[in-house]
Amino acid sequence: MTSPSFSFEFFPPKTAEGIEKLRNTRRQLAQLKPEFFSVTFGAGGTTQQGTIDTVLEIQSEGLQAAPHLSCIGSTRANVGSLLQLYRDAGIRRIVALRGDIPSGMVEVGEFRYANELVEFIRAEHGDWFHIEIAAYPEYHPQARTAHDDLGNFVRKAKAGANSAITQYFFNADAYFAFVDEVRARGVDIPVVPGIMPINQFSQLARFSDACGTEIPRWLRLKLQSYGDDVASIKALGLDVVTDLCRRLLDGGAPGLHFYTLNAAGAPSTIWQRLGL
Ligand code: FAD
Repeated sequence: MTSPSFSFEFFPPKTAEGIEKLRNTRRQLAQLKPEFFSVTFGAGGTTQQGTIDTVLEIQSEGLQAAPHLSCIGSTRANVGSLLQLYRDAGIRRIVALRGDIPSGMVEVGEFRYANELVEFIRAEHGDWFHIEIAAYPEYHPQARTAHDDLGNFVRKAKAGANSAITQYFFNADAYFAFVDEVRARGVDIPVVPGIMPINQFSQLARFSDACGTEIPRWLRLKLQSYGDDVASIKALGLDVVTDLCRRLLDGGAPGLHFYTLNAAGAPSTIWQRLGL
């Protein structure tokens, strides 16, 4: 059995202070020797230069950077030149996404779904890039049915993906059921759980509603009851998320991908508690 793969995700900072904070975060997390650091990408042009700058900086520090690349609203020429830029910088891993359609966007562009981006990367670059795709154990919020969403995931995986990272979730059973379903459909790539630390409640609730993640009722009510007592929210969050990670790893998950929100504290503590 191969050893588990651990990775951390950042978003591109917008201010000089944010850039410095991320450098600090990276220095701390680099000590944990993750397989890679991924950097999100704003669909429709909002943070694209920030993604490139952050990715190139990580790579120049001798660490492995994995840019997210969303294709919605873009052209083959634009995606092609971005891939070439990354390849020239020695980057070997891409998180290939459709992206969310920005409000007001009229032109969908030359790619409609992420499977078309995966096909494009494979056709243009052969095996140069390790391609990660997104997976949704609780199903994508725009999917017509669970059955359709599984079929779409399978098509995307078979287009040439090497591994998948999931949307965050708090129900371990949803993850195990999803993995069983895709295995039964002939997909054998690793599906790495995406882990969201809990640092506060209202933003987490908003995010979760938007991306289709269920916060179990007992947890939602308990977090809500703490009001602005951030220390209690964080303490419960650490217990719940560490326990989730342990169940996932014990149940055979091939690694963990942490949504860090550019802060090292929670992922480092979870890491220590897991004894990794
Ligand atoms: P797809 O796989 O294309 O799926 C999108 C929807 O279309 C699903 O409902 C699917 O069932 C359906 N579908 C897929 N293929 C077809 C088809 N051929 N015909 C009909 N329906 C189809 N967003 C960003 O903007 N930037 C980021 O950096 C970013 N990083 C992410 C990282 C991870 C690990 C995850 C899980 C999500 C990330 N997202 C990011 C969010 C993601 O872009 C959104 O969830 C987006 O709505 C879907 O992207 P996708 O690549 O999963 O799309």
